[in-house]
Amino acid sequence: MGGDSNYRAVFRCIAGCSEEYPLDEVVYRCKKCGGLLEVYHDVDRLRELSPKKWKELFNSRVGTTKWPYGSGVWSKKEWVCPEVDNENIVSMFEGNTNLFWAKRFGAMIGMNDLWIKMCGNSHTGSFKDLGMTVLVSMVNEMIMRGKPIKAVACASTGDTSAALAAYCAYAGIPSIVFLPRNKISTAQLVQPMSNGSIVMSLDTDFDGCMRIVQEITKDNTIYLANSMNSLRIEGQKSISVEIVQQFDWEVPDVIIIPGGNLGNVSALGNGFDMMLQLGLITKKPRIVLAQAQNANPLYVAYRNGFKEFKPITPQKTLASAIQIGDPVSVIKAIKALQQFDGIVEQASEDELSNAAALADRTGMYSCPHTGVALAVLLKLVEKQVISKTDKTVVISTAHGLKFSEFKVGYHQGTLPDVKSNYANKPIELEANADRVREVLFNELQRRSTVAY
Ligand SMILES: *Cc1c(COP(=O)(O)O)cnc(C)c1O
Ligand SMILES: [Zn+2]
Repeated sequence: MGGDSNYRAVFRCIAGCSEEYPLDEVVYRCKKCGGLLEVYHDVDRLRELSPKKWKELFNSRVGTTKWPYGSGVWSKKEWVCPEVDNENIVSMFEGNTNLFWAKRFGAMIGMNDLWIKMCGNSHTGSFKDLGMTVLVSMVNEMIMRGKPIKAVACASTGDTSAALAAYCAYAGIPSIVFLPRNKISTAQLVQPMSNGSIVMSLDTDFDGCMRIVQEITKDNTIYLANSMNSLRIEGQKSISVEIVQQFDWEVPDVIIIPGGNLGNVSALGNGFDMMLQLGLITKKPRIVLAQAQNANPLYVAYRNGFKEFKPITPQKTLASAIQIGDPVSVIKAIKALQQFDGIVEQASEDELSNAAALADRTGMYSCPHTGVALAVLLKLVEKQVISKTDKTVVISTAHGLKFSEFKVGYHQGTLPDVKSNYANKPIELEANADRVREVLFNELQRRSTVAY
């Protein structure tokens, strides 16, 4: 066995039968009852270190170059995946992303304590790196232990495949990605191509790709990297710890996160749950899950008090990474929302686009999913569900640079169902100084009369 022998984690069935499997076994669902698995940590062992000592340990590591602890994820290794030998970890020092103080955006809506967690400021440009470093590290560990794994595969709405391809390329492990043809951005398609992945572009949507990859990975030599694989959730849950750590261990009042397959909101909940269990915090934040109106199965379920959940066929949304109708992690997500006084709210195409553009005017560069979360923030502040004095964090899930089609379309006014209130087109002009001066001063004059 590699890893930290002091600590122990296993896969455990969450459907009530409590079957356990070692983390180096190729297993995605409970073999007894078909239930979802979760990584279960031996919390009693972890309790042997006091809350103060954990905080000191985490503070001493993050941002350093001491392998692998400088990573935002691996700085919390004992809580994430103690099973991996440090030598087998595949890390690009992911995480440790900045909290952006949304000073001007907040001021527009009367908030002074509004923060954006910039998860897109990461190696492949989205929060998917946080989970993928753990999954690929575990695969690498399994290969080193002699398991016959030929490749790692995933279905993706774009960002998971980019992360999988990069981490596999770093480790020298073959990767296969299944993408819905013409439903992801150019940047997202070209990332796995560049990293040498086998890129399968299928005539279906995400849910269709998901069905295919589950078929293919029934062959145990191809390892499944979707978020049904709870190793990824373990890495992603480090954002909760990281946010609280960045506030010097103060817990925010509200956290807003966009969701599609609903792994990330489950991870967020798990991170807070672990900090509560180990006594690092005593207060619970309220968690808000933001969905695109065109792909809103959890919103519908929330409106009927989570009495039942029905998968839907999602409509097309600009927030393409959350265009999912049958989310794998729905049970875990509902559990997290119930534990953290959760709310689900939705945003239309027009609302998400204009919220993103408005935020960009204050220095951000928001992807459409972050736009969904920002639009939900605006709505909930308007409805006074979120108070203006609440310490609020919006999770920005990807970098805007991955979504240039969205940005260009917005400013050209060509996005469907969107009225581009903040379009800003380039001024095209002959290179004549007098003419340039005239146009420029007119424009400055115009801008002095409206809010920019
Ligand atoms: C994957 C992804 C999401 C949704 O996360 P889930 O865990 O599927 O809910 C949101 N935004 C971006 C940019 C993503 O890549
Ligand atoms: Zn079971």
